[in-house]
Amino acid sequence: MPRPIEALIHTEALAHNLGRARAQAPNARVWAVVKANAYGHGIERAFEGLRAADGFALLDLAEAERLRALDWRGPILLLEGVFEPRDLELCSRLKLWHTVHCEQQIDWLAMHKTHEPHRVFLKLNSGMNRLGFTPAAFRAAYARLDALPQVDEIGLMTHFSDADSLRQGVDGIAHQLTAFEAVTEGLAGERSIANSAATLRHPARTAQDWVRAGIMSYGGVPDFPEHDAAHWDLRPAMTLRSRLIGVQQLQPGDTIGYGSAFTAEQITRAGIVACGYADGYPRHAPTGTPVLVDGKRTRTLGRVSMDMLAVDLSDLPASGFGSEVTLWGEGPQGSRLPIDEVAQSAGTIGYELMCAIAPRVPVRHA
Ligand SMILES: *Cc1c(COP(=O)(O)O)cnc(C)c1O
Repeated sequence: MPRPIEALIHTEALAHNLGRARAQAPNARVWAVVKANAYGHGIERAFEGLRAADGFALLDLAEAERLRALDWRGPILLLEGVFEPRDLELCSRLKLWHTVHCEQQIDWLAMHKTHEPHRVFLKLNSGMNRLGFTPAAFRAAYARLDALPQVDEIGLMTHFSDADSLRQGVDGIAHQLTAFEAVTEGLAGERSIANSAATLRHPARTAQDWVRAGIMSYGGVPDFPEHDAAHWDLRPAMTLRSRLIGVQQLQPGDTIGYGSAFTAEQITRAGIVACGYADGYPRHAPTGTPVLVDGKRTRTLGRVSMDMLAVDLSDLPASGFGSEVTLWGEGPQGSRLPIDEVAQSAGTIGYELMCAIAPRVPVRHA
């Protein structure tokens, strides 16, 4: 018998969530963002649910090859562009659109030999200060690209740092949106500025020509806990589930797990789950992190170990050895545990938990 842990991927949830991006931005096209192996869901599995997208955005060239191997002939955008000159050969061969965020990438394009010119998205650094041309350098970069025979259409893009919240008390997109509009005024080209948070919270101003739907495609909420998945009508695309492989009766004063981080104050039945940090469950999840046993909500107890964690069965007398445990996602009888709640308890975000599912966890379709 393999360990009872598994991750389930919900194809209809992916399709539903993609539909939510469309509903938010009805006049835009939608990039399904599938970087990081589709946020841990697996490119091939996620593709089945997201194939109605207008394009796929990612950053690893090997992942782009995997999408082409699935016979996806539509647009693929490399969100960070190429990392070295010879990557451009793959862009030509696989017809990849690529971001251009720095002068070196323009130098490489200028030396590149290709029969067909490339579609590129020129990236503005509107305030995030990771990648992109400064407002002062942007129009010169555009002119340089525009003069290259290697370049076909030039799209215009930027990325928001605070679309999920306020920034210094004001709307988190205002400062960057103003910079983007000013710098790109009058320039021809399709615009792509919205991530999930902007698509959900500020569609009127940010949808434009293409939205980039990442976390929302997987049912994760970019602005949790201000809003939750029910508010945005998003469905979990991943369930992580396992079973109880042991039960312990703790007497008052007994402790459980490494570091004796939990001490029983009364008689406590504890279930031992076949799931630990080597499966991708966050080790920093403290006592009290929500978990479902047989679809009923309870809490974790003590420290998460490499292969196991403990849960409180005190109020679940019908549950015991072999009971189903939902770490996040869809549980039995219509129960559900949002990944955002588990992430919040562990001091992180749903994105990190999805991406961290370990290779040893078998993944299959629900
Ligand atoms: C990852 C990424 C996105 C998607 O962000 P979400 O918050 O997951 O929607 C969009 N644009 C760029 C440039 C990205 O790197």
